[in-house]
Amino acid sequence: MSSVDVRSVSKAWGDTLAVNDVSFTARKGELLVLLGPSGCGKSTMLRLIAGLEEPTAGSIAIEGRDVSGLTGAARGVAMVFQSYALFPHLTVADNITFGLSVRGTAKAETARRLDKVAALLNLEALLRRKPAQLSGGQQQRVALGRALIAEAPVCLLDEPLSNLDAQLRQDLRREIRGLQQRLGITMIYVTHDQTEAMSMADRVILMRGGRIEQQGRPADLYERPATLFTARFIGGAPMNLLDLDDGPHGAVIAGTTGPALFASSGRGRVLGLRPEDVTVDSVNGRGCFHATVAAVEYLGGEALVTCRFGERAILARTRGDSAPPIGATIGLVWDAAARHLFDAASGRRLSETGAGSLSPQLHTISNQGSIRA
Ligand code: ADP
Ligand code: MG
Repeated sequence: MSSVDVRSVSKAWGDTLAVNDVSFTARKGELLVLLGPSGCGKSTMLRLIAGLEEPTAGSIAIEGRDVSGLTGAARGVAMVFQSYALFPHLTVADNITFGLSVRGTAKAETARRLDKVAALLNLEALLRRKPAQLSGGQQQRVALGRALIAEAPVCLLDEPLSNLDAQLRQDLRREIRGLQQRLGITMIYVTHDQTEAMSMADRVILMRGGRIEQQGRPADLYERPATLFTARFIGGAPMNLLDLDDGPHGAVIAGTTGPALFASSGRGRVLGLRPEDVTVDSVNGRGCFHATVAAVEYLGGEALVTCRFGERAILARTRGDSAPPIGATIGLVWDAAARHLFDAASGRRLSETGAGSLSPQLHTISNQGSIRA
């Protein structure tokens, strides 16, 4: 069952189309992430759902009901803002229950809900404090508590963790996801951080310039990016994107004479390879690309290795304890199935058949004169 239905919604600010003909559905009980770079329209979309803005065109339905003109409370949504927006002169308890007192909720009911929320968020010991006496993470919990206590069926969060340090962000990510699943809340969560999106979401909507670029499960976006934009945006380390050209025996990486990657034309196509799909091998191993190690970024469990050949570079991910030394000559290997192919002009993904007769096992192509570094 759908909980939030966004239908062909646009929002213009003068000449700027902040949201441009966007349609999507949030299913009941799911965590949907709106992801995208700064300025792509995420907050505007969220504020439209919350009733803080009205759309220029299109409509929004919540639990099957058109909500045009209704306030957030009447829509059955609660929102958590990036800035927390806590009242500095009120205690934690009063901040959390503020919305309920405004609506005239009975004292006993308010107390019951406060107990529950405080226990959920580990705030019991802090209820008498003022916001200034709390850490960033604790303030964020209070902001979350204020949204949860409304017991609204839909909870909207706008970059709720961006003011916190990395460790706390990771902890709170898990807490929010856990709470959302336990309470069965429909959550729409805005972030520009792809790690946050991938680790929390049931489904991700990637936005770009006011439009939806791609939507799907995190694995869909990771495994089959529909465009170069998605390919660049999704993934821990950036995907290698290499322009292709026509060589004597088929498609080659532009600026090199080979080896051929597949039999048909490469011109106007871009090869995408995730660093985690590129294996560093010895020169005499299976690698058909010979390259020189230009840089190693050691990250503990893993290392990112920049491998140069000519003007080009490929980033490969290795185990932290098996990264090759800088200056070493190495071979690079990848599976044919790990390749992503895009049309350079449109930026759109090409199906495997679109690439013509792709050699099924790229890595077995022999090294016809290694690429000169
Ligand atoms: P995001 O949250 O993805 O960073 P926003 O939704 O805040 O993006 O903004 C989308 C676009 O709309 C931006 O170009 C921004 O400058 C513009 N915008 C947002 N709010 C307003 C406003 N109140 N008045 C005018 N322009 C706005
Ligand atoms: Mg924003």
